[in-house]
Amino acid sequence: THFGFETVNEDEKTKKVHQVFETVADKYDLMNDVMSLGVHRVWKDIFMMRLAPTPGTKLLDMAGGTGDISFRYLNYLKNKDLSASDKPSSVTVCDINQHMLDVGKARAERQGYSKEPSVHMEWLCADAERLPLADDTYSAYTVSFGIRNCTRVDKVLEEAYRVLQPGGRFLCLEFSQLPNSTMQWMYDQYSFQMIPVMGQLIAGQWKPYKYLVESIRQFPDQEKFKSMIEEAGFRQVTYENLTFGICAIHSGFKL
Ligand code: SAM
Repeated sequence: THFGFETVNEDEKTKKVHQVFETVADKYDLMNDVMSLGVHRVWKDIFMMRLAPTPGTKLLDMAGGTGDISFRYLNYLKNKDLSASDKPSSVTVCDINQHMLDVGKARAERQGYSKEPSVHMEWLCADAERLPLADDTYSAYTVSFGIRNCTRVDKVLEEAYRVLQPGGRFLCLEFSQLPNSTMQWMYDQYSFQMIPVMGQLIAGQWKPYKYLVESIRQFPDQEKFKSMIEEAGFRQVTYENLTFGICAIHSGFKL
């Protein structure tokens, strides 16, 4: 294709993604704010409202990067009566890139999350496609802007299904496709023209941001992704568009 990405073989994609996040880790949080004009914060807030975790939740935050979803989870639970459950709440932030996790850990220290006594937090460097985790372990699995970067999405979904307990919930926030072609065109103009330029100006890097835009365009649309989640075994799979379909939240249950 003219995006020049589908010809890349699987191992190359894995390496390329690793390089991308190695390069952007230190500027990752700033660039999210700049590129989305701050809107990614609202999408993530909505995502956490949809998860609506209760005390006792054991969350696996896959591709958790610098901790945006996990910190929201901790904040959400802080406002609940944690003694309502005799089971402790926990979150495992998992990412394939140790550098992203290190930035996240430093943030957790700075913002006081590492001292949160009521919710156990741990950081795990591992590949979503082969998790060093036992079957039926977690009650919730989140992945936010991460699954698009994985080489074999079917493997990721299979692993998500495996490590979730029966009744457990899968929730994914990811860039998606706009159903309206005029709007998709305008959005493509913005992203293909502006995002690499911003990357160059702010982070001094062009290529990682070009990759970002291409990977968004190549990710399956809402319906296709929904059927992939169903193929992995999840039930009651639904999705919701955010900002006209720029993003979507997909939900499913292991039943
Ligand atoms: N979840 C965070 C957020 O919403 O801000 C971070 C998302 S960041 C765009 C994507 C993350 O996916 C990166 O930290 C990258 O290292 C991670 N990643 C890419 N491939 C992965 C894989 N196979 N397994 C686990 N994490 C992966």
